[in-house]
Amino acid sequence: MRTLRLTTSKKDIEHAADIIRSGGLVAFPTETVYGLGANALDEGAVRSIYEAKGRPSDNPMIVHIARFEDLDELVAGGSIRISPYAKLAAKKLWPGPLTMVFDKNPAVPSVTTGGLDTVAIRMPLSEAARSLIEQAGLPVAAPSANISGRPSPTTAEDVLEDMDGRIDAVIMGDQCDVGIESTVVDMTGDTPVILRPGIITKEWLEAAIGCEVEYDKSLLKKPEFIAEPALGAQADEDFKPRSPGMKYTHYSPKAKVRIIEGDGKFFGDKVMQLGIEAMREGKKPAILEYGGDAKKAAHKLFADLRELDRQGYDIIFVRGLDEKGEGFSVMNRMLKSAGYDIIK
Ligand code: AMP
Ligand code: MG
Repeated sequence: MRTLRLTTSKKDIEHAADIIRSGGLVAFPTETVYGLGANALDEGAVRSIYEAKGRPSDNPMIVHIARFEDLDELVAGGSIRISPYAKLAAKKLWPGPLTMVFDKNPAVPSVTTGGLDTVAIRMPLSEAARSLIEQAGLPVAAPSANISGRPSPTTAEDVLEDMDGRIDAVIMGDQCDVGIESTVVDMTGDTPVILRPGIITKEWLEAAIGCEVEYDKSLLKKPEFIAEPALGAQADEDFKPRSPGMKYTHYSPKAKVRIIEGDGKFFGDKVMQLGIEAMREGKKPAILEYGGDAKKAAHKLFADLRELDRQGYDIIFVRGLDEKGEGFSVMNRMLKSAGYDIIK
């Protein structure tokens, strides 16, 4: 298959929307990461997303919409049935990097939701994404546009690295602003529960909707509690992530990633010591340091991991961040890309 390179021009977005309407796959920029989109209501089209990504079929998609009313055909009982705090979150934080989980309308094929009876929905902020969804005139299922397990793509080049020849088209936009995926919040219960942390933090969400928000317990646990066969860890039923995607090996570049925590001197000394050891073994080491700036780390982490792979580094030493605010969300990704290898 030849993958078309499209621009963000009106004509090209219309072309991309036509592809989606006829059951094809189009990668497109959003403010978080690039998504791989297809008609969320077309089972065959959604299946081809799983195939292109090599994604396990129990890992559900996020359904992207352009207008609040689009919730009507996706949520059980329509938008009228969503809770007051979900309505408030939509009013204050949509369009934006927030995904909300609702009970699913039967119109949504179960392949889209990985067999769950809930559906995750987001209204993206990026202009290209919203006009694509509007033009297509249907809800667009879109996971991140990477091969399953790899770092999410935040540039069009990173999308092509994984997807060239596997999908119909890529809308070649700018590098994504945020750089990590959306915050996923379960809105089906009495208290909103964060299933995946993102740039919209717990505190931000609580301030926006004026009620307490919880973290899914699995987010507060480190590897031994996570069902992660690839890491040889034991599954712990009590702490099984409720967001299916969180249980898979994730965000891994080809190079080995090691996190170093502690002050600047400790980081410098460790990098020196371990870097020399690596070179003695004939390996090429790289260093990633974001000066404690979590927003910058979010924006650059995935792009940097991919770039260092392209440059042939074998081992990446990355300085850990304080696990508060956005730092918590970035560390969630960093820890997974390092397979929880932390040096303290
Ligand atoms: P991705 O688009 O690759 O970031 O993947 C979307 C992620 O959203 C999935 O991996 C899940 O973790 C999460 N998600 C999607 N739908 C649901 C749902 N119905 N319930 C809980 N989490 C969901
Ligand atoms: Mg993903």
